[in-house]
Amino acid sequence: MHTLRLLLNFYSQCPVCKSKKVKNLGLRYDGSQGLFPCAKGHIALSGYKCLNCDTVFSNPMPINTQLFYESENPLEYFDTILTKDDINQRWKSIVEFVQEHLKSWGNALDVGAGIGLLTQFLAQEFAEVIAIEPSRTFFKMLKENLHNENNIRVSQNTFEEFSQNNTTIQFDFIFIHEVLEHVPNPIELLSFAKNMLRENGIIYVCVPNNRWLTYDIVKLAYSLTGRCFTPHLAPLHPPFHLYEFSKRTFRYIASTLNLEVVAMRTRTERTYVPGLLHSPVKFLSKLLDKGYEVEVILKKST
Ligand SMILES: [Zn+2]
Repeated sequence: MHTLRLLLNFYSQCPVCKSKKVKNLGLRYDGSQGLFPCAKGHIALSGYKCLNCDTVFSNPMPINTQLFYESENPLEYFDTILTKDDINQRWKSIVEFVQEHLKSWGNALDVGAGIGLLTQFLAQEFAEVIAIEPSRTFFKMLKENLHNENNIRVSQNTFEEFSQNNTTIQFDFIFIHEVLEHVPNPIELLSFAKNMLRENGIIYVCVPNNRWLTYDIVKLAYSLTGRCFTPHLAPLHPPFHLYEFSKRTFRYIASTLNLEVVAMRTRTERTYVPGLLHSPVKFLSKLLDKGYEVEVILKKST
């Protein structure tokens, strides 16, 4: 027997922009659905899309999400997201993306550092790094992984707690890598980040792209094999994505929070399609700018 005590928020309007123009995309099971989803799952939640700001969100949405991460084996959890091999590559491409917009490599804040896979790279570039991670299980491994780095301070906190307890610190660089899709209130998290941003500092965000080309392909298959299902999100199984965004969402969010979008791009190196299809799908997703993640650089509006 397996008990899951979920607290669910039901939304009649978009949780990001409050628009009532939202559309039900279909059901998302608590596991991999494949191309023939009908017989696959146990329980499902719906995926919704906001027609105003283009956010995709789980509805209802689990909000006591800390229980997901405490029960996961951190190594297995992060293995499903980032492999050891592509993490060097990923960091290199992030540096290429941010360096021309970054005025100072003084201090950086790693929000939702996980087990520190990318924190160690931040520590090589910045004079000082603070890494915060709310999950007790992940934090334990984060501390172990970073114990040799003497310019990193780690803190087991939510971003909300951390920003309330540290009202005077400001950062040159706030790193929010694969985090916004996990929190029930991403706008609130970004507003905390804005408050901790130094005048010339930048916020880097990386999130799943709801315009990903692979989704279009799976949706085409679902129109034949599982009409009431959607491939978007993962609200009930690892990696536990409650949200997906697009470039349009970030243009909306930036204008609401009085931030400026300095640069945006989508990442295309992964397609999750079978071997032979990988290269053509990768090529097309580059061409159409429909990669699997959106990366954004934000700064305070002048
Ligand atoms: Zn919206």
